[in-house]
Amino acid sequence: MIIFPALISPSLLCVNVGSLFKTRCMMCGHEAANYKSPICAALEGRGAPDPDTHDAQIPVEQLPRCEQRGCNGLLRPAVVWFGETLDADILSFAEKALDSCDLCLVVGTSSVVYPAAMFAPQVAARGVPVAEFNMENTPATERFKFHFHGPCGTTLTPALARHESELN
Ligand SMILES: [Zn+2]
Repeated sequence: MIIFPALISPSLLCVNVGSLFKTRCMMCGHEAANYKSPICAALEGRGAPDPDTHDAQIPVEQLPRCEQRGCNGLLRPAVVWFGETLDADILSFAEKALDSCDLCLVVGTSSVVYPAAMFAPQVAARGVPVAEFNMENTPATERFKFHFHGPCGTTLTPALARHESELN
């Protein structure tokens, strides 16, 4: 999951908050790719993305477990959850990029989860153009020079296409 891209000459910065297709062991920390669906038999037919869904009450012993030799720790998605912090090295790198970029694209983020939510407004405060691509306005939209409303799969490509005034 990419939460914040910014163009830095000439490379692209992406702060990655993890992948739902990786697991992390809560005991030994081992991370592994995992594309099983469901991830374990007890989760078959469970986990609908409905906030009114009742607790599935799956016994802990039926939850997915680490397969590292002698571990058997509980597995969780290898993502940064609310309340957890991003890696300090990533934050340090992001700060340097934010201080030196001359264009910032904010693609598909709600701009409500910190610290990422402060990145683009921090750039905009320097007078640097920020373009937000989102399905809806966010709390930060008014602080940005550009807002492209709609699915980023539809809005991003034409916005980044070579303009007719540019030389070939
Ligand atoms: Zn483990």
